[in-house]
Amino acid sequence: MSKNLTSRSEDYSKWYNELVVKADLAQNSAVRGCMVIKPYGYAIWEKMQAELDRMFKETGHQNAYFPLFVPKSLFEAEEKNAEGFAKECAVVTHYRLQNDPDNPGKLRVDPEAKLEEELVVRPTSEAIIWSTYKGWIQSYRDLPLLINQWANVVRWEMRTRLFLRTAEFLWQEGHTAHATKKEALAEAELMNNVYADFAENFMAIPVIKGTKTESERFAGADETYCIEALMQDGKALQAGTSHFLGQNFAKAFDVKFANSEGTQEYVWATSWGVSTRLMGALIMTHSDDQGLVLPPNLAPNQVVIVPIYKGAEQLEELSSTVQGIMKGLRALGVTVKYDDRDTFRPGAKFAQHELQGVPLRIAIGARDLANGTVELARRDTLTKESVALEGIEQHVKDLLDEIQNALFEKAYSYREEHITEVDTFPEFKKVLKNKGGFISAHWDGTAETEDRIKEYTKATIRCIPIDGKKEEGKCVLTGNPSKQRVLFAKAY
Ligand code: AMP
Repeated sequence: MSKNLTSRSEDYSKWYNELVVKADLAQNSAVRGCMVIKPYGYAIWEKMQAELDRMFKETGHQNAYFPLFVPKSLFEAEEKNAEGFAKECAVVTHYRLQNDPDNPGKLRVDPEAKLEEELVVRPTSEAIIWSTYKGWIQSYRDLPLLINQWANVVRWEMRTRLFLRTAEFLWQEGHTAHATKKEALAEAELMNNVYADFAENFMAIPVIKGTKTESERFAGADETYCIEALMQDGKALQAGTSHFLGQNFAKAFDVKFANSEGTQEYVWATSWGVSTRLMGALIMTHSDDQGLVLPPNLAPNQVVIVPIYKGAEQLEELSSTVQGIMKGLRALGVTVKYDDRDTFRPGAKFAQHELQGVPLRIAIGARDLANGTVELARRDTLTKESVALEGIEQHVKDLLDEIQNALFEKAYSYREEHITEVDTFPEFKKVLKNKGGFISAHWDGTAETEDRIKEYTKATIRCIPIDGKKEEGKCVLTGNPSKQRVLFAKAY
């Protein structure tokens, strides 16, 4: 495995693309914009899935599965949603191929096999789900309905990048139904909080919770909550969204329930999702010029043990000590891999594990064994120490906790240093150009001003922070009154 990556300072986006491929996370595929997620990358995604799935179930949700194809008539039903996604839809028109009489050995679409109704490949599943909920919800006793699905979706994106923006991506989408507006709003906010908790405490990625402006809102939503993260190059990344859908889908699909007085009412809805984009967030928050840096919570192997030996006899002797260490580590819930491959030299193994971000590496040789020590190397700081074999298990366990916290603290300090309050437009442009990050500025609340700022600077309003102080002021562009500062940034 060739190790040398382009450095981040030289070309951040090249560094990112090289890292994804060289760390064996994913690769481009035969289909433009679609990726193959390789086993190591998929193992990290599975860690995210497992934790999120646990959190969803703890908050009362159940998993189900709805089909990939949405009949066009259903897709059209909620007009705003349909209009918002129309430009990115893949559509199935035929269901059969046949031998091409004009081109021997080639196939063509069978003109006789045209579908009566075209099928949209889901870019999101509200339509198919709400057309189904109509049959599930009759009375207030059927509510709330709290469902999640793990699935793939297709959005025919024009400018794609591995994990960050792909034409097909993996995600989860929650779709809930409620009797009251208050309850649906609380659900949308709760799930945004679940995402924030997951990002910060599991992925060690600090996020800002906020709401989107009308122009950045999900098509078909009355309110979009989001978590926004800041990448090392000063660009923002939308890491998760949670939508309050009002009664828009209930009205489009005529989903009503009888309340406790027997009166018919439309149902209230939410939907919320995070995707494989989180892999991109992970990479661009923690990694360095040597490769991936994984928070211990996301590492498929938290520890790798590399034996340094000459000959089979030495290896055998080391291996029995290593087995003991592994048993002890596993008993403490630490995941560990013994890299005793004899097809690679230790140096090559070190390089690979560094590139793949294994949080801790233990190297053990004959001399260490005689001294009762091992060499322990930390991926995040690239430091090494000699540690006594005795009690190594607890030491490793504590160190993993320390690394998890250190990664969050480092990312948090960076993020805090890169939120700049500005009050004039020249200053806005200067900060954006020289420093990047989030710019906290007053905005007059109009889509027109938002568009103009985007046109002049490429920066968009990432969110109206929920925890932001309510300070009145004057719009940074127009000078018109503003109720609160919002966060601008260039974004992925
Ligand atoms: P949305 O349904 O648009 O609110 O998106 C749900 C989640 O998927 C958000 O966290 C988005 O950041 C993410 N997402 C949207 N489009 C893509 C894409 N093309 N590739 C990967 N993730 C995406």
